[in-house]
Amino acid sequence: MPVSDADLLIDATIAELRRHGKQLAIVGVDQSARLSALVVQLGMTGNLLAGSSSSVVRPAHTHARWVLERDAALDFTDPRRFGGLRVFRSLNELEEHWSQLGPDALQITGEHLASVLCTSARRVKAALLDQTVLAGVGNIYADESLFLAGIRPQTRCRRITSEQWATLAQNIRSVLSEAVNAGGSTLRDYVDANGAQGRYQGQHRVYGRQDEPCVRCGSGLRSRLLAQRMTVWCPVCQR
Ligand SMILES: [Zn+2]
Repeated sequence: MPVSDADLLIDATIAELRRHGKQLAIVGVDQSARLSALVVQLGMTGNLLAGSSSSVVRPAHTHARWVLERDAALDFTDPRRFGGLRVFRSLNELEEHWSQLGPDALQITGEHLASVLCTSARRVKAALLDQTVLAGVGNIYADESLFLAGIRPQTRCRRITSEQWATLAQNIRSVLSEAVNAGGSTLRDYVDANGAQGRYQGQHRVYGRQDEPCVRCGSGLRSRLLAQRMTVWCPVCQR
């Protein structure tokens, strides 16, 4: 179906912002009071940047620009095109789409993880990255949470106890909260809407630190490819 101006919220008023996992929904209301949503997925390299609509120079790799009131503008940039925009013509459509994802990671519980994974032979790192299990955990925060929970990333889910699931869920929530409070992790080019870099990359305990000493016990951190992603863990602290 072709995308219309209304789908892109042109001439609409922003009614609300919603988020589930890694997806941000800009909910707009048009002149006939119809609500629709545009979902922004930043992917690995996308940014939403606030600026001035009168600035002639647009940020590099701008795929969309919304001109807002009072000379403001919002640009969606995505150099490597892993992110994207998705149109939902009603809030029901949006909720239907989000119901296919797992619960938001900031609210995840050990009971939920145990109930969906306790019989699974999958490796726990791969399960945490699966957005239909829980929504919002990526590679960095999976490794950081597993380190704090003392669980090896390659452990089969069915071997994890309910106490370990509870500890893991609590660490997922705390790692994500810490990262949000620190403005996220800037590895290459991530910046927030005002152009500020994140500060959480300075607090990573394992991610990106392969072969360096463990912050807790001093052992050399190990790494391997797991679920197609570089995975780092401590061979002593994680069992
Ligand atoms: Zn250690």
